[in-house]
Amino acid sequence: MTNSSSTDHVRIFDTSLRDGEQSPGFSMTMKGKLRMAKALAALNVDVIEAGFAAASPGDAEAVRAIAEEAEGPIICSLARVTEPDIEAAAKALEPAARKRAHVFIGTSPLHREFKLKMRKGEILDAIDRGVRFARETFEDVEFSAEDAMRTERTFLAECLKVATEAGATTLNVPDTVGYITPEEIFDTFSYLVEHVDPGPGVVFSVHCHDDLGMAVANSLAAVRAGVRQVECTINGIGERAGNCAMEEVVMALRTRKDSYGVETQVNTNKLYHASRTLEEVTSEKVQRNKAIVGRNAFAHEAGIHQHGMLSNPETYEIMRPEDVGQPNTTLVLGKHSGKHAILARLEELGHEVDPENVPALFTAFKKLADEKKEVTDEDLRGLVSGASNRVIVSEVSE
Ligand code: MN
Repeated sequence: MTNSSSTDHVRIFDTSLRDGEQSPGFSMTMKGKLRMAKALAALNVDVIEAGFAAASPGDAEAVRAIAEEAEGPIICSLARVTEPDIEAAAKALEPAARKRAHVFIGTSPLHREFKLKMRKGEILDAIDRGVRFARETFEDVEFSAEDAMRTERTFLAECLKVATEAGATTLNVPDTVGYITPEEIFDTFSYLVEHVDPGPGVVFSVHCHDDLGMAVANSLAAVRAGVRQVECTINGIGERAGNCAMEEVVMALRTRKDSYGVETQVNTNKLYHASRTLEEVTSEKVQRNKAIVGRNAFAHEAGIHQHGMLSNPETYEIMRPEDVGQPNTTLVLGKHSGKHAILARLEELGHEVDPENVPALFTAFKKLADEKKEVTDEDLRGLVSGASNRVIVSEVSE
Protein backbone atom coordinates (compact mmCIF):
# COMPACT_ATOMS: atom_id res chain seq x y z
CA MET A 1 0.00 0.00 0.00
CA THR A 2 2.76 2.44 0.88
CA ASN A 3 4.41 3.65 -2.24
CA SER A 4 7.77 3.58 -0.50
CA SER A 5 9.92 2.86 -3.52
CA SER A 6 8.88 6.02 -5.31
CA THR A 7 11.14 9.00 -4.77
CA ASP A 8 8.31 11.46 -5.19
CA HIS A 9 6.22 9.94 -2.41
CA VAL A 10 6.31 11.97 0.80
CA ARG A 11 5.41 9.88 3.83
CA ILE A 12 3.11 11.47 6.37
CA PHE A 13 4.02 10.55 9.94
CA ASP A 14 1.34 11.69 12.37
CA THR A 15 2.36 12.43 15.93
CA SER A 16 -0.90 13.94 17.24
CA LEU A 17 -1.11 11.10 19.74
CA ARG A 18 2.45 11.56 21.01
CA ASP A 19 3.90 15.07 20.55
CA GLY A 20 0.37 16.50 20.38
CA GLU A 21 -1.04 14.57 23.28
CA GLN A 22 1.83 15.48 25.61
CA SER A 23 1.08 19.22 25.38
CA PRO A 24 -1.11 21.15 27.85
CA GLY A 25 -4.83 20.99 27.07
CA PHE A 26 -4.51 18.13 24.60
CA SER A 27 -4.35 15.04 26.76
CA MET A 28 -6.77 12.37 25.60
CA THR A 29 -8.53 9.46 27.19
CA MET A 30 -7.96 5.97 25.87
CA LYS A 31 -11.31 6.13 24.07
CA GLY A 32 -10.39 9.49 22.57
CA LYS A 33 -7.02 8.20 21.37
CA LEU A 34 -8.70 5.26 19.66
CA ARG A 35 -11.17 7.57 17.90
CA MET A 36 -8.26 9.71 16.71
CA ALA A 37 -6.27 6.69 15.56
CA LYS A 38 -9.23 5.58 13.45
CA ALA A 39 -9.60 9.05 11.93
CA LEU A 40 -5.87 8.92 11.07
CA ALA A 41 -6.22 5.47 9.52
CA ALA A 42 -9.11 6.79 7.41
CA LEU A 43 -6.80 9.60 6.26
CA ASN A 44 -4.39 6.86 5.13
CA VAL A 45 -1.35 8.41 6.81
CA ASP A 46 1.80 6.32 6.44
CA VAL A 47 2.71 6.19 10.13
CA ILE A 48 0.83 6.79 13.39
CA GLU A 49 3.05 7.54 16.36
CA ALA A 50 0.73 6.16 19.01
CA GLY A 51 2.66 7.22 22.10
CA PHE A 52 5.79 6.73 24.18
CA ALA A 53 5.33 3.24 25.63
CA ALA A 54 8.00 3.60 28.33
CA ALA A 55 6.60 6.93 29.58
CA SER A 56 3.80 5.42 31.66
CA PRO A 57 1.65 2.29 31.90
CA GLY A 58 -1.24 4.32 30.45
CA ASP A 59 0.84 5.28 27.43
CA ALA A 60 1.88 1.65 26.87
CA GLU A 61 -1.73 0.54 27.13
CA ALA A 62 -2.83 3.15 24.58
CA VAL A 63 -0.08 2.17 22.14
CA ARG A 64 -1.18 -1.44 22.46
CA ALA A 65 -4.86 -0.65 21.94
CA ILE A 66 -4.08 1.39 18.84
CA ALA A 67 -1.79 -1.39 17.55
CA GLU A 68 -4.73 -3.76 17.95
CA GLU A 69 -7.42 -1.61 16.40
CA ALA A 70 -6.03 0.85 13.86
CA GLU A 71 -5.76 -0.83 10.48
CA GLY A 72 -3.53 0.30 7.63
CA PRO A 73 -0.78 2.62 8.80
CA ILE A 74 2.48 1.58 10.45
CA ILE A 75 2.07 1.97 14.23
CA CYS A 76 5.03 3.47 16.02
CA SER A 77 6.18 4.08 19.59
CA LEU A 78 8.81 6.54 20.73
CA ALA A 79 11.72 5.21 22.84
CA ARG A 80 15.01 6.54 24.13
CA VAL A 81 18.03 4.60 22.81
CA THR A 82 17.96 2.37 25.88
CA GLU A 83 17.08 -1.32 26.15
CA PRO A 84 14.19 -0.91 28.65
CA ASP A 85 12.55 1.76 26.47
CA ILE A 86 12.90 -0.30 23.29
CA GLU A 87 11.59 -3.39 25.08
CA ALA A 88 8.56 -1.44 26.30
CA ALA A 89 7.91 -0.27 22.72
CA ALA A 90 8.26 -3.81 21.39
CA LYS A 91 5.85 -5.18 23.98
CA ALA A 92 3.21 -2.52 23.38
CA LEU A 93 3.47 -2.90 19.61
CA GLU A 94 3.15 -6.70 19.63
CA PRO A 95 -0.35 -6.73 18.06
CA ALA A 96 0.51 -4.34 15.21
CA ALA A 97 0.52 -5.74 11.68
CA ARG A 98 3.16 -3.17 10.71
CA LYS A 99 5.27 -1.55 13.39
CA ARG A 100 8.14 0.86 13.91
CA ALA A 101 10.44 1.74 16.80
CA HIS A 102 11.31 5.43 16.92
CA VAL A 103 14.49 5.79 18.99
CA PHE A 104 16.08 9.10 19.91
CA ILE A 105 18.86 10.79 21.81
CA GLY A 106 19.83 14.46 22.18
CA THR A 107 22.83 15.45 20.07
CA SER A 108 23.22 19.23 20.52
CA PRO A 109 25.91 20.70 22.81
CA LEU A 110 23.20 21.86 25.24
CA HIS A 111 21.60 18.43 25.44
CA ARG A 112 24.95 16.64 25.68
CA GLU A 113 26.31 18.88 28.39
CA PHE A 114 23.31 19.72 30.56
CA LYS A 115 20.77 16.97 30.04
CA LEU A 116 22.70 13.82 29.19
CA LYS A 117 26.16 14.66 30.57
CA MET A 118 27.67 12.61 27.76
CA ARG A 119 30.57 13.30 25.42
CA LYS A 120 30.31 13.00 21.63
CA GLY A 121 31.87 9.53 21.55
CA GLU A 122 29.42 8.28 24.18
CA ILE A 123 26.49 9.62 22.16
CA LEU A 124 27.71 7.80 19.06
CA ASP A 125 28.09 4.56 21.05
CA ALA A 126 24.59 4.93 22.49
CA ILE A 127 23.14 5.43 19.01
CA ASP A 128 24.97 2.40 17.65
CA ARG A 129 23.91 0.14 20.53
CA GLY A 130 20.34 1.41 20.68
CA VAL A 131 19.60 1.12 16.97
CA ARG A 132 21.21 -2.34 16.77
CA PHE A 133 19.16 -3.50 19.75
CA ALA A 134 15.97 -2.12 18.19
CA ARG A 135 16.75 -3.89 14.92
CA GLU A 136 16.74 -7.24 16.76
CA THR A 137 12.97 -6.86 17.19
CA PHE A 138 12.00 -4.31 14.53
CA GLU A 139 12.65 -4.32 10.82
CA ASP A 140 11.56 -0.70 10.70
CA VAL A 141 13.61 1.60 12.94
CA GLU A 142 13.57 5.37 12.90
CA PHE A 143 16.36 7.32 14.55
CA SER A 144 15.93 10.91 15.76
CA ALA A 145 18.73 13.25 16.77
CA GLU A 146 16.92 15.39 19.33
CA ASP A 147 17.66 19.13 18.98
CA ALA A 148 19.34 18.29 15.67
CA MET A 149 19.08 21.82 14.32
CA ARG A 150 21.30 23.17 17.11
CA THR A 151 23.83 20.35 16.69
CA GLU A 152 27.15 20.92 14.92
CA ARG A 153 26.59 19.86 11.32
CA THR A 154 29.55 17.54 11.06
CA PHE A 155 28.65 15.79 14.31
CA LEU A 156 25.00 15.53 13.26
CA ALA A 157 26.06 13.85 10.00
CA GLU A 158 28.24 11.49 12.03
CA CYS A 159 25.31 10.55 14.31
CA LEU A 160 23.08 9.82 11.34
CA LYS A 161 25.79 7.79 9.64
CA VAL A 162 26.22 5.64 12.75
CA ALA A 163 22.43 5.19 12.96
CA THR A 164 22.10 4.09 9.36
CA GLU A 165 25.09 1.73 9.64
CA ALA A 166 23.41 0.18 12.69
CA GLY A 167 20.25 -0.40 10.62
CA ALA A 168 18.03 2.69 10.94
CA THR A 169 15.77 3.04 7.91
CA THR A 170 14.42 6.52 8.66
CA LEU A 171 16.66 9.40 9.75
CA ASN A 172 14.68 12.09 11.51
CA VAL A 173 16.17 15.53 11.97
CA PRO A 174 13.94 17.51 14.31
CA ASP A 175 13.88 21.21 14.95
CA THR A 176 12.91 20.40 18.52
CA VAL A 177 12.81 24.03 19.66
CA GLY A 178 11.31 25.69 16.56
CA TYR A 179 14.39 27.79 15.92
CA ILE A 180 15.36 27.23 12.28
CA THR A 181 14.31 29.20 9.18
CA PRO A 182 13.26 27.81 5.77
CA GLU A 183 16.52 28.93 4.13
CA GLU A 184 18.64 27.30 6.83
CA ILE A 185 16.72 24.03 6.89
CA PHE A 186 17.05 23.70 3.13
CA ASP A 187 20.76 24.20 3.52
CA THR A 188 21.04 21.72 6.42
CA PHE A 189 19.23 18.93 4.59
CA SER A 190 21.13 19.56 1.38
CA TYR A 191 24.32 19.08 3.42
CA LEU A 192 23.03 15.94 5.19
CA VAL A 193 21.71 14.28 2.04
CA GLU A 194 25.14 14.75 0.48
CA HIS A 195 27.30 13.86 3.49
CA VAL A 196 25.35 11.04 5.14
CA ASP A 197 24.52 9.44 1.79
CA PRO A 198 22.77 6.45 3.41
CA GLY A 199 22.00 4.57 0.21
CA PRO A 200 18.65 3.49 -1.23
CA GLY A 201 15.74 2.66 1.03
CA VAL A 202 16.70 5.07 3.81
CA VAL A 203 14.41 8.04 4.16
CA PHE A 204 15.23 11.47 5.60
CA SER A 205 12.53 12.87 7.85
CA VAL A 206 11.75 16.30 9.27
CA HIS A 207 9.99 17.26 12.50
CA CYS A 208 9.29 20.95 12.97
CA HIS A 209 7.86 23.07 15.74
CA ASP A 210 5.93 26.29 15.28
CA ASP A 211 7.52 28.57 17.90
CA LEU A 212 8.23 31.18 15.23
CA GLY A 213 5.26 30.21 13.05
CA MET A 214 7.48 28.52 10.47
CA ALA A 215 6.84 24.79 11.02
CA VAL A 216 4.97 24.26 7.74
CA ALA A 217 7.29 26.48 5.70
CA ASN A 218 10.31 24.69 7.19
CA SER A 219 8.85 21.25 6.45
CA LEU A 220 8.18 22.25 2.83
CA ALA A 221 11.73 23.60 2.46
CA ALA A 222 13.01 20.27 3.81
CA VAL A 223 10.96 18.39 1.21
CA ARG A 224 12.51 20.53 -1.47
CA ALA A 225 15.95 19.49 -0.20
CA GLY A 226 15.09 15.79 -0.54
CA VAL A 227 13.28 14.88 2.69
CA ARG A 228 10.61 12.23 2.11
CA GLN A 229 8.90 11.99 5.50
CA VAL A 230 7.16 14.85 7.27
CA GLU A 231 6.22 14.53 10.92
CA CYS A 232 3.10 16.51 11.70
CA THR A 233 -0.12 16.68 13.69
CA ILE A 234 -3.78 17.39 13.09
CA ASN A 235 -4.59 21.07 13.74
CA GLY A 236 -0.85 21.56 14.37
CA ILE A 237 -1.09 20.56 18.03
CA GLY A 238 2.13 19.72 19.88
CA GLU A 239 4.64 20.95 22.43
CA ARG A 240 4.50 24.74 23.07
CA ALA A 241 3.29 26.44 19.85
CA GLY A 242 2.74 23.04 18.27
CA ASN A 243 4.04 20.99 15.36
CA CYS A 244 3.77 21.27 11.60
CA ALA A 245 0.02 21.10 10.80
CA MET A 246 -0.74 18.04 8.68
CA GLU A 247 -3.69 19.57 6.86
CA GLU A 248 -1.55 22.53 5.79
CA VAL A 249 1.53 20.64 4.63
CA VAL A 250 -0.57 18.03 2.80
CA MET A 251 -2.73 20.60 1.03
CA ALA A 252 0.30 22.75 0.18
CA LEU A 253 1.98 19.75 -1.47
CA ARG A 254 -1.22 18.93 -3.32
CA THR A 255 -2.31 22.42 -4.35
CA ARG A 256 1.24 23.39 -5.35
CA LYS A 257 2.30 20.11 -6.92
CA ASP A 258 3.48 22.26 -9.83
CA SER A 259 6.10 23.66 -7.46
CA TYR A 260 7.06 20.67 -5.25
CA GLY A 261 6.51 17.77 -7.67
CA VAL A 262 5.77 15.24 -4.91
CA GLU A 263 2.70 13.44 -3.59
CA THR A 264 1.31 12.09 -0.35
CA GLN A 265 -1.14 9.22 -0.06
CA VAL A 266 -3.46 11.12 2.30
CA ASN A 267 -7.19 11.04 1.59
CA THR A 268 -7.47 14.80 1.83
CA ASN A 269 -11.26 14.74 1.96
CA LYS A 270 -10.97 13.23 5.45
CA LEU A 271 -8.92 16.15 6.84
CA TYR A 272 -11.90 18.12 8.11
CA HIS A 273 -13.32 15.06 9.84
CA ALA A 274 -9.99 14.36 11.57
CA SER A 275 -9.76 17.99 12.67
CA ARG A 276 -13.28 17.96 14.14
CA THR A 277 -12.66 14.60 15.82
CA LEU A 278 -9.63 16.11 17.56
CA GLU A 279 -11.71 19.11 18.65
CA GLU A 280 -14.29 16.79 20.18
CA VAL A 281 -11.77 14.50 21.82
CA THR A 282 -9.80 17.36 23.42
CA SER A 283 -12.56 20.00 23.78
CA GLU A 284 -10.12 22.52 22.27
CA LYS A 285 -11.60 24.58 19.43
CA VAL A 286 -9.67 25.25 16.26
CA GLN A 287 -9.22 28.97 15.64
CA ARG A 288 -11.79 30.28 13.20
CA ASN A 289 -9.29 31.50 10.61
CA LYS A 290 -7.13 28.34 10.74
CA ALA A 291 -5.91 27.35 7.26
CA ILE A 292 -7.73 24.39 5.62
CA VAL A 293 -9.91 23.32 8.57
CA GLY A 294 -10.97 26.57 10.26
CA ARG A 295 -14.59 27.68 10.02
CA ASN A 296 -13.53 30.63 7.88
CA ALA A 297 -11.24 28.67 5.56
CA PHE A 298 -13.94 28.62 2.88
CA ALA A 299 -16.15 31.45 4.09
CA HIS A 300 -16.65 34.75 2.33
CA GLU A 301 -18.40 37.85 3.57
CA ALA A 302 -17.08 40.77 1.54
CA GLY A 303 -19.55 41.76 -1.17
CA ILE A 304 -17.05 41.82 -4.02
CA HIS A 305 -15.74 38.39 -3.03
CA GLN A 306 -19.23 36.94 -2.73
CA HIS A 307 -20.15 38.23 -6.16
CA GLY A 308 -17.00 36.64 -7.58
CA MET A 309 -17.64 33.34 -5.78
CA LEU A 310 -21.16 33.16 -7.17
CA SER A 311 -19.86 33.67 -10.71
CA ASN A 312 -16.91 31.28 -10.42
CA PRO A 313 -15.49 29.90 -7.14
CA GLU A 314 -11.97 29.99 -8.57
CA THR A 315 -12.03 33.78 -8.38
CA TYR A 316 -11.38 33.57 -4.63
CA GLU A 317 -10.67 29.90 -3.79
CA ILE A 318 -7.53 27.89 -4.63
CA MET A 319 -9.01 24.68 -3.20
CA ARG A 320 -12.53 23.34 -3.14
CA PRO A 321 -14.04 22.73 0.30
CA GLU A 322 -14.90 19.17 -0.73
CA ASP A 323 -11.18 18.50 -1.35
CA VAL A 324 -10.61 18.71 2.40
CA GLY A 325 -14.05 17.45 3.43
CA GLN A 326 -15.44 20.82 4.56
CA PRO A 327 -19.23 20.75 4.17
CA ASN A 328 -19.29 23.58 1.62
CA THR A 329 -18.26 27.10 0.90
CA THR A 330 -20.14 29.51 3.13
CA LEU A 331 -21.07 32.90 2.01
CA VAL A 332 -21.44 34.49 5.41
CA LEU A 333 -23.97 37.27 5.29
CA GLY A 334 -22.96 40.34 7.22
CA LYS A 335 -22.46 44.05 6.79
CA HIS A 336 -19.88 43.48 4.04
CA SER A 337 -22.23 41.44 1.86
CA GLY A 338 -23.71 42.66 -1.39
CA LYS A 339 -27.07 42.23 -3.13
CA HIS A 340 -25.91 39.26 -5.24
CA ALA A 341 -25.11 37.11 -2.23
CA ILE A 342 -28.30 38.01 -0.39
CA LEU A 343 -30.50 37.25 -3.37
CA ALA A 344 -28.61 34.00 -4.09
CA ARG A 345 -29.08 32.84 -0.51
CA LEU A 346 -32.76 33.77 -0.57
CA GLU A 347 -33.20 31.80 -3.76
CA GLU A 348 -31.60 28.78 -2.08
CA LEU A 349 -34.09 29.23 0.74
CA GLY A 350 -36.93 29.26 -1.79
CA HIS A 351 -37.71 32.98 -1.89
CA GLU A 352 -37.85 34.99 -5.06
CA VAL A 353 -37.69 38.68 -4.43
CA ASP A 354 -39.51 41.01 -6.73
CA PRO A 355 -36.87 43.34 -8.31
CA GLU A 356 -38.76 46.41 -7.13
CA ASN A 357 -38.53 45.20 -3.52
CA VAL A 358 -34.78 44.68 -3.67
CA PRO A 359 -33.73 48.21 -2.62
CA ALA A 360 -36.00 48.15 0.46
CA LEU A 361 -34.84 44.65 1.36
CA PHE A 362 -31.21 45.62 0.96
CA THR A 363 -31.63 48.69 3.17
CA ALA A 364 -33.31 46.60 5.85
CA PHE A 365 -30.57 44.00 5.52
CA LYS A 366 -27.77 46.55 5.99
CA LYS A 367 -29.52 47.99 9.02
CA LEU A 368 -29.79 44.57 10.63
CA ALA A 369 -26.23 43.64 9.65
CA ASP A 370 -24.95 46.75 11.42
CA GLU A 371 -26.56 45.52 14.61
CA LYS A 372 -25.63 41.85 14.27
CA LYS A 373 -22.29 40.21 13.49
CA GLU A 374 -23.82 37.63 11.17
CA VAL A 375 -27.17 37.54 9.45
CA THR A 376 -28.59 34.02 9.63
CA ASP A 377 -31.07 32.29 7.34
CA GLU A 378 -33.70 32.87 10.00
CA ASP A 379 -32.99 36.61 10.00
CA LEU A 380 -33.19 36.62 6.24
CA ARG A 381 -36.60 34.93 6.23
CA GLY A 382 -37.77 37.49 8.76
CA LEU A 383 -36.55 40.31 6.55
CA VAL A 384 -38.36 38.98 3.50
CA SER A 385 -41.67 38.65 5.28
CA GLY A 386 -41.06 42.01 6.98
CA ALA A 387 -40.20 43.71 3.70
CA SER A 388 -43.23 42.30 1.88
CA ASN A 389 -45.48 43.23 4.80
CA ARG A 390 -44.29 46.78 4.59
CA VAL A 391 -44.92 46.81 0.86
CA ILE A 392 -48.41 45.41 1.40
CA VAL A 393 -49.07 47.91 4.16
CA SER A 394 -47.90 50.79 2.01
CA GLU A 395 -50.12 49.58 -0.86
CA VAL A 396 -53.14 49.46 1.43
CA SER A 397 -52.53 52.92 2.82
CA GLU A 398 -52.25 54.54 -0.59
MN1 MN B 1 8.57 17.45 18.98
